[in-house]
Amino acid sequence: MENTPLWDDGRWQALPSLRENVEADVCVIGLGGSGLSAIHRALELKQRVIGLDAGMVAGGAAGRNGGFVMAGLAAFYHDAVADLGRERASAIYQLSLEQTDKILLEAPEVSRQPGSLRIALSDDELEDCRLEAEALRLDGFAVEDYKGPEGQGLLFPKGSVFNPLIRCRTLALSALEKGAQLFENSCVIDVKANHVHTDHAQISAKYIIVAVDGRLELLLPELTGQVRTARLQMLGTEPTTEVSVPRPVYLRYGYEYYQQLASGSITLGGFRDKAKETEWTKDIAPTEFIQNHLTSFLRNHIGVQAPISHRWAASVSYSKGVLPYFGEARPGVWAIGGYSGTGNVIGALCGLGVVEKAVKGSSSIADLFMAAPSGLN
Ligand SMILES: Cc1cc2nc3c(=O)[nH]c(=O)nc-3n(C[C@H](O)[C@H](O)[C@H](O)COP(=O)(O)OP(=O)(O)OC[C@H]3O[C@@H](n4cnc5c(N)ncnc54)[C@H](O)[C@@H]3O)c2cc1C
Repeated sequence: MENTPLWDDGRWQALPSLRENVEADVCVIGLGGSGLSAIHRALELKQRVIGLDAGMVAGGAAGRNGGFVMAGLAAFYHDAVADLGRERASAIYQLSLEQTDKILLEAPEVSRQPGSLRIALSDDELEDCRLEAEALRLDGFAVEDYKGPEGQGLLFPKGSVFNPLIRCRTLALSALEKGAQLFENSCVIDVKANHVHTDHAQISAKYIIVAVDGRLELLLPELTGQVRTARLQMLGTEPTTEVSVPRPVYLRYGYEYYQQLASGSITLGGFRDKAKETEWTKDIAPTEFIQNHLTSFLRNHIGVQAPISHRWAASVSYSKGVLPYFGEARPGVWAIGGYSGTGNVIGALCGLGVVEKAVKGSSSIADLFMAAPSGLN
């Protein structure tokens, strides 16, 4: 089965791989949305920056995801409040709303803000929507009750979407213009304070940031148990006018998510839980089992018979609690990841925060993500 995201316009010019030893102030490992945000923050702090990726810019989840740009953590707001307390949960939500606005400006030609829908598939889920809306309203965040052709649930006016791959490529190109050195096909095999070893070269740097979501525990095995890699799968169709889906939709507690692009194509992801253990894997090949679930949902629930042009998958990692992993994983080695399937906004925030924490020694973003909630992380 092909494994190409529908997002790729085929216009990327590959970056070189690192073949010589180099020195920098900041070395960022991972050129997804989180690593690229970290790189931009490091450039703002006037650091000499090197960024490395084992594959291509956004070759991982950052360029292969559903394109939802959503406020908040992966956990629904009331669940985050129950875990973190109102003050901290609302501060993270507020920051993520502000970060959403900034992200939309990074690549405006491939971003839009039509609002997004959380749709309930059962009475229990509808009650969960009610609880989420109540918690959001109590803290002054916008949410509306919704009933329409997609079903019943909640409408988030700030819900947004983007082409995740083009957005990352845009960020990479502007980082290059600002003086960052970025290398593709440069796999890091070992990392310790001030030193990064790739398969062909060594980097000396004052600050080392690992910004890898899926497969994080491969590079930093000490994080096994804190994060766990899983595969998420999607499909995309040829443009169609069979349906009109004005806003991105997620449903069944967020397991499934779909949207209709300006071209008319539908993208759809989900059903990870249906395969039980097999999706807890570092493999990224799409499987017949999950793809059959997606196809059947596309045909029977969304009502689209258009040909499926793309099928793809990628690795993400899930953290133990509601917060992602954010910490000094080894002396002198900072790491972020484990966004539990919702990392476009939170990953960018963590990227900003981890650089501030490493370089300046303090960061209000880091403060929000680092202290452990009760009994978790
Ligand atoms: C199918 C799917 C749908 C999703 N939908 C959404 C969504 O709609 N909205 C949302 O917010 N989130 C979504 N997510 C999650 C989101 O994509 C991720 O949380 C986010 O992209 C993580 O970005 P990142 O930059 O932290 O990590 P990644 O995108 O994983 O980037 C890390 C990079 O590190 C590189 N790397 C790894 N190991 C090494 C090494 N040893 N040496 C050098 N480089 C290395 C990888 O090649 C990769 O490019 C989805 C994920 C998937 C897979």
